[in-house]
Amino acid sequence: MPPLPPGSTIGIIGGGQLGRMLAMAAANLGYRCAVYAPEPSGPAADVCSRWVQGAYADAVALSVFAETVDVLTYEFENVPVEPLVTLSVPVLPNCRALAIAQDRALEKQFVEDLGGRPAPWRAVSDRAELDAALAEIGAPAILKTRRFGYDGKGQARLKTVADADAAWAAIGGSPAVLEGFVGFEHEFSLLVVRGPDGSHRLWDTVLNVHDHGILALSTAPAEGVCEDARREAGDLALRIVDALDYVGVLAIEFFDSADGPVFNEMAPRVHNSGHWTIEGAVISQFENHIRAIAGLPLGSTALAAPRVEMRNLIGEQADDWAMILSDPNAHLHLYGKGQARPGRKMGHVTRLFFD
Ligand code: AMP
Repeated sequence: MPPLPPGSTIGIIGGGQLGRMLAMAAANLGYRCAVYAPEPSGPAADVCSRWVQGAYADAVALSVFAETVDVLTYEFENVPVEPLVTLSVPVLPNCRALAIAQDRALEKQFVEDLGGRPAPWRAVSDRAELDAALAEIGAPAILKTRRFGYDGKGQARLKTVADADAAWAAIGGSPAVLEGFVGFEHEFSLLVVRGPDGSHRLWDTVLNVHDHGILALSTAPAEGVCEDARREAGDLALRIVDALDYVGVLAIEFFDSADGPVFNEMAPRVHNSGHWTIEGAVISQFENHIRAIAGLPLGSTALAAPRVEMRNLIGEQADDWAMILSDPNAHLHLYGKGQARPGRKMGHVTRLFFD
């Protein structure tokens, strides 16, 4: 694939903060970004050259949009795959990666087939199958919708088998997977970028702390995650991107268990646990994603400091922006969202530590 010349237009499906940070990285490389999203505006609107409002499922509107861009990517994985399959421009990461990552059952099977280890799981399509799955996996367990889950949404925990009715009702009786409960020390993620020529780079392993299912803190390197676990996770990440002929950034979340890393889920896009790379790595996840989909050489993923931390600003935490800026070493990122609602990601702050 010849490199995309400067001045070309990158189409981004989705216009949230990930789109915003992708567009900023693309601008540094001399590209323009056009956003396609169902909302009338969003965080990416401030920094893109064009915003087209349209439904994700509107195949005609999407194909008209595709005619106006040179390559298409997405910052949100819950978009229907079918309208993307026949577009006139490359869609990167490819539609197969997107389809697998959208469905927890397909994703776990795919990773298992590559020698990865998810939590024990069973696909559950009706209430009777939930009983059968519980009989095999036991409790405690977590019931998760196969599709459209994020930040702990679409999930119900079962302390005992007696919670089955409530859990099934809580997820709305949708097709689901039942997962055994994994005992873990830490949660960590890995970000990998792969170019069209098969070259790839991994960033340092990231330790993640969640609050009410939402990422609160990421630190790199992931202190406490042993070398063997990091290596095993990294090897799996490379097998995944090679098997998918993946182009772009892929994020994978793991549980650090006593038996080694347990695969939780993957996102075929830039990821919140990679925001630290903007200042904390030589080249960020956003720039390397753009480089990959544009066919440019990938940049170094090395740490820019011995330790880096990124804190999300959730809801009214973003109101503390002036106090945060009183720390001269804080890199503040606000996403330009108007209303600070509880649980809403309003921004993040990154700090580099040199001692
Ligand atoms: P997810 O949306 O799948 O990332 O799940 C949200 C959070 O629930 C994770 O970050 C974990 O803290 C927890 N969790 C999810 N699945 C499991 C599991 N199988 N065992 C233990 N904890 C889990």
